[in-house]
Amino acid sequence: MTTHHTGHVWLVGGGPGDPGLVTQAGLDALRRADVVLYDRLAPAELLDECREGAELIDAGKAVGNQVMTQAQTNASLVEHARAGKRVVRLKGGDPFVFGRGGEEAEALVEAGIPCTIVPGVTSAIAGLAAAGIPVTHRGVAASFAVVTGTQAPTRTEDAVHWEHLATAVDTLVVLMGVGNLDRITDQLIAHGRDAETPCAVIQAATRPEQRVVEAPLRAIAQTAHDAQIEAPALLVVGEVVRLRDRIAPAGRGPLAGKRVLITRTRQQASTLAEMLRAEGARPVLLPTIEIERRADPAAVDAATSALRASAFGWVVFTSENAVEIFLDLLRERDTDARAFAGTQLCAIGAATAAALASRGLRADLVASDTSGDGVLVALLAAGAGGAAVLLPRAEGGRAVLPDGLRAAGATVTELTLYLSAPPAEAPAGVLAQIQAGQIDAVTFTASSTVRNLATMLGDDLPALRGAVIACIGPQTAEASAEAGLPPTVVAREASVAGLVEVLREQFARNEGVAR
Ligand code: SAH
Repeated sequence: MTTHHTGHVWLVGGGPGDPGLVTQAGLDALRRADVVLYDRLAPAELLDECREGAELIDAGKAVGNQVMTQAQTNASLVEHARAGKRVVRLKGGDPFVFGRGGEEAEALVEAGIPCTIVPGVTSAIAGLAAAGIPVTHRGVAASFAVVTGTQAPTRTEDAVHWEHLATAVDTLVVLMGVGNLDRITDQLIAHGRDAETPCAVIQAATRPEQRVVEAPLRAIAQTAHDAQIEAPALLVVGEVVRLRDRIAPAGRGPLAGKRVLITRTRQQASTLAEMLRAEGARPVLLPTIEIERRADPAAVDAATSALRASAFGWVVFTSENAVEIFLDLLRERDTDARAFAGTQLCAIGAATAAALASRGLRADLVASDTSGDGVLVALLAAGAGGAAVLLPRAEGGRAVLPDGLRAAGATVTELTLYLSAPPAEAPAGVLAQIQAGQIDAVTFTASSTVRNLATMLGDDLPALRGAVIACIGPQTAEASAEAGLPPTVVAREASVAGLVEVLREQFARNEGVAR
């Protein structure tokens, strides 16, 4: 018997540009997708969320010598779904606001392909908000309309009734109109809209390169032209534009729109990235460390047996990676957390303790002074002096701790689990931003991230000198200075939260100077 399995298509609105403005449902679909067809306006950063091996197709890119037509896009969606794939069609804003999402949905339904529409945050509303302009406002605007500014005389459905719209709604939002601002504003004035009506043109709304110009209706076309405003941009016409002065400061903290380089591993970057996003900043991921498993199976077998026999008094976890990899190795040996039953656990640093907790293990000792000496003092105070200690760790880890434990009478088994090494080179997109001087701040969370970044960037490292250099602690700061990037700020509390705090303070100071 043959089973025929049909795939599924999600038409996902990617939001106006800030990758944080996608919906949870959209993100879920992206993370599970086998194939993603994306548009030029969809936030490119969202593609980083796709799983490894997902096929990414640029539907806005030339195929042969032509951009993929709508018919080709529809056909591609149908074809991949028929092959049993989970397909995401990723669009900018909302898929049904001038996104041709309706046509795609029709084509899919016609072809009998199951399809889910995942709405998005449209630039037609959020784009205004990003500039501090509410689309409606009590006492100021009780209605709004969103219209296309592209005149397509052959397609009657695109025809905009300027003669009615000019005076019928309070707030008018014109998409796809930057090339036609002259004609549009002429039409509106000709049909009775007051030439002094305040207007704004917002380019690249919600993105770091966002720009806004303001002028009365009679002058906005010229103003936008003089400022060299380019697509994607939208025009907003109406009294609500006046509210901008009062409202715009609300949404923008000191880190808003700042591009911040994160140099730790991809796995560890997420907390810092999330905190930065919450501040309105744009994290740029450049992992300078890749974790490569390097465990000798025989040594792991021996350690596992000894652990199960409660032969160790203590296991000391040096990092989150050590926790993750060691527990994975145990599982591969049909063993689980119960193997630690007769053993005390020490975590170096709160993040390592949290990694243990996420695997259902409580650390008996959390060494908050994470230097080799600090850990040693804490362990000896806890009575590890004469014990058998297992130390699962990275290749080439420092000798301070095992040497100190041995000197105090402990028997130490060092178990190498992984190697942390820099990747051969920086991804082209990130490198280009660095070379163009677009990075506003660099974060270093360990001396190794500094050294590895220097190795990876080579001659391009000086391009970061104009950025704010933020280090998590004094050791990292020292390494940074040595590498030729003197630290601008050092976290008072050695944590990612502490790092974000000093970054905020620094940019607030910079703003103060700029004013
Ligand atoms: N479906 C999209 C709109 C697609 S039409 C949405 O809901 O947002 C494309 C037009 O949308 C552009 O020409 C521009 O007018 C507007 N647009 C999209 N993203 C924008 C952004 N980040 N800033 C300003 N305008 C944007």
